[in-house]
Amino acid sequence: MKKWTETQKNRLLELNADTKNLAQEFEDETKRNKSFQMLITALVKTQKIKLEKMRSNKRRSRFCLLCDKLVKALTSKGFVQVTTPTMMAKSLLKKMSITDFHPLTKQIFWVDSNRCLRPMLAPHLYYIMKDLLRIWEKPIGIFEIGSCFRKESEGARHTSEFTMLNVCEFGLPMEKRQTRLEELAGFVMEASHIDDYELETEESAVYGSTIDVVTQKPHGLELGSGAMGPHPLDDAWKINETWVGIGFGVERLLMAKDKSNTLGKYTRSLTWLDGVRLNL
Ligand code: ATP
Ligand code: MG
Repeated sequence: MKKWTETQKNRLLELNADTKNLAQEFEDETKRNKSFQMLITALVKTQKIKLEKMRSNKRRSRFCLLCDKLVKALTSKGFVQVTTPTMMAKSLLKKMSITDFHPLTKQIFWVDSNRCLRPMLAPHLYYIMKDLLRIWEKPIGIFEIGSCFRKESEGARHTSEFTMLNVCEFGLPMEKRQTRLEELAGFVMEASHIDDYELETEESAVYGSTIDVVTQKPHGLELGSGAMGPHPLDDAWKINETWVGIGFGVERLLMAKDKSNTLGKYTRSLTWLDGVRLNL
């Protein structure tokens, strides 16, 4: 029996063929290649219909709609949305203990000798929080959704530019932190329509250990990483507070919702529009 060639399989994946089609086998190559042509024609048609709906009616991608939902969910719970710069000062990375020999250092995109494209949102959130703690009554909750950049060895679950949602709350009762962290994870999971997740403790190069939100096995995809303070990193910001914080990859949320194995079509892209490949 003949399976699809690698090239055929890749094209079928691009065109969002389902698992049944992908697993098809044929008596010989001629039959396979003929089926391939027929299947491609049908799939291209379906993708064009999806694109047409995008143009005539939907007009915003699932990615944008999810960001909207997350904003709505968090602001309605009292969290304030902030927007900080995409470029980050080297001195702020240093405050996160990311200096020359840190594992994350190799992953940083430098803009010049003093600035990089932010690999995470936390330093800027710490920065803002330090001021807000002087001005506002506690507890204080803020969040940001924005691009982060890391040099990755480009697996199916990583991309060099991804979108992070980081939500944190400072000045809450010490004994409420674990419950609150679980609640924050719950808000994000609910807005993303993901119900098969669990919390796991993981090693972290930045925080020592993190409380991760992962999808259930066998996928076991990390969706987010959470941490709690007071934390040794707080000293550098002159912050002496209880806190909880958690950062999610927005693309991973969409990937998990679809139970997909690859991130590609959910990322900021020049070749995909709302999950439809543009080389139709
Ligand atoms: P992983 O272990 O999957 O590489 P991480 O622990 O290095 O992720 P964190 O620093 O915890 O990542 O970042 C918070 C979240 O951001 C992750 O849980 C993940 O959802 C997302 N994320 C991190 N790096 C990437 C990437 N390169 N591409 C897409 N999403 C990412
Ligand atoms: Mg993590």
